[in-house]
Amino acid sequence: MQSISILGSTGSIGVSTLDVVARHPDRYRVHALSAHARVAELAQQCERFRPQVAVVGSATAAAELEALLRAKDIATDVAYGPEALCAIASAEGCDMVMAAIVGAAGLASTLAAAKAGKKILLANKEALVISGQLLMDAVAAHGASLLPIDSEHNAIFQCLPAGYTRSMPAHGVEKILLTASGGPFLTRDVATLNDVTVEEAVAHPKWVMGRKISVDSATMMNKGLEVIEAHWLFGAPADKIEVVIHPQSVIHSMVSYADGSVLAQLGNPDMRTPIANAMAYPERIASGVAPLDLAQIAQLSFSQPDFDRFPCLKLAYDALRAGGTLAAILNAANEVAVQAFLDRRIGFRMIDQLIQRVMSAIPNRQASDIGALLAEDVEARAHAEALISP
Ligand code: NAD
Ligand code: MG
Repeated sequence: MQSISILGSTGSIGVSTLDVVARHPDRYRVHALSAHARVAELAQQCERFRPQVAVVGSATAAAELEALLRAKDIATDVAYGPEALCAIASAEGCDMVMAAIVGAAGLASTLAAAKAGKKILLANKEALVISGQLLMDAVAAHGASLLPIDSEHNAIFQCLPAGYTRSMPAHGVEKILLTASGGPFLTRDVATLNDVTVEEAVAHPKWVMGRKISVDSATMMNKGLEVIEAHWLFGAPADKIEVVIHPQSVIHSMVSYADGSVLAQLGNPDMRTPIANAMAYPERIASGVAPLDLAQIAQLSFSQPDFDRFPCLKLAYDALRAGGTLAAILNAANEVAVQAFLDRRIGFRMIDQLIQRVMSAIPNRQASDIGALLAEDVEARAHAEALISP
């Protein structure tokens, strides 16, 4: 029996994780759950999965949750705030941690899990974008393991040999082919992109996801963040990571080898596959995902990404090539810009313009500790905010 802490259990990934957990009560039990503000939903999850601890974002939310749980005689302890998140990520009572908080807010708890030597199921790609080196170092230093949940990275993980050491040449790996659906605006007239509505931007053609990652998919910043994520997970330099547009989202990514072989992982676009894969690794368990019907899909197509249509993708490559703190700056500016777009304060094309301006305004530095990186994050956010409402 393995116990799991799910950070961000009310989100899209969190809910899919609980779905997989519920299918295997003989293998998994829930140690802890967390949500930022959706207290009623978290209370229902506690009723069903009976975790030892539940963590929320504020004292008010904690009091609300406490009342809901006591009314139903549920014994789950309630805690709140970033330190409580780190505590459930590193608790002795948990074997693995699903890091599924969105954005930089997930960084500290993911690092805490690494320092406690946990098996980390990493959905929170922003943690690697901000502090890839520090996180990978912490994982190595404390005997933790990092299993990718992002469907592309989980696909690549499945296509790489067991015991892969983050050295492409040592394993005859030539290239990583990161597939991308292209999102809702793959073929829309570029001239009209600034007029897209929030509703259009979050309506992804293939995946049902949280709002932030849905907008990231529409700008293709999501793929940019994933290029950086692939760099850290697999030791791949920028020019060995190629983005391939594949609108059907059936091939989740590929690995190209020196002998000309290309290995791909296929499946229906449902996050329960990578979640179940990582949870049970190296075993395979049922995930509830429908089998792939290739005859019904009939056709798979591929094309190159258009960097003029998707400038965010280029900005992410630039940040990766530059190194230092630029990826953290890019991420912070993106988080602010996406939120401002979702709040209808800026137009869609302002997202990439804002990120670009913040990246050129803030000097790229070297940061060897988390404090320095977070200072950079704060500075970039303030700068982005000032550009939105001067
Ligand atoms: P979501 O918005 O649906 O859920 C986010 C979760 O994080 C919620 O439980 C929320 O309560 C919690 N949260 C939000 N802000 C918080 C804060 N400040 N402090 C603590 N908790 C907070 O997001 P999602 O789509 O589930 O994505 C989660 C992560 O997984 C993201 O990093 C995303 O990029 C990544 N991811 C998601 C998918 C997907 O299919 N949804 C696929 C690949 C990767
Ligand atoms: Mg992905």
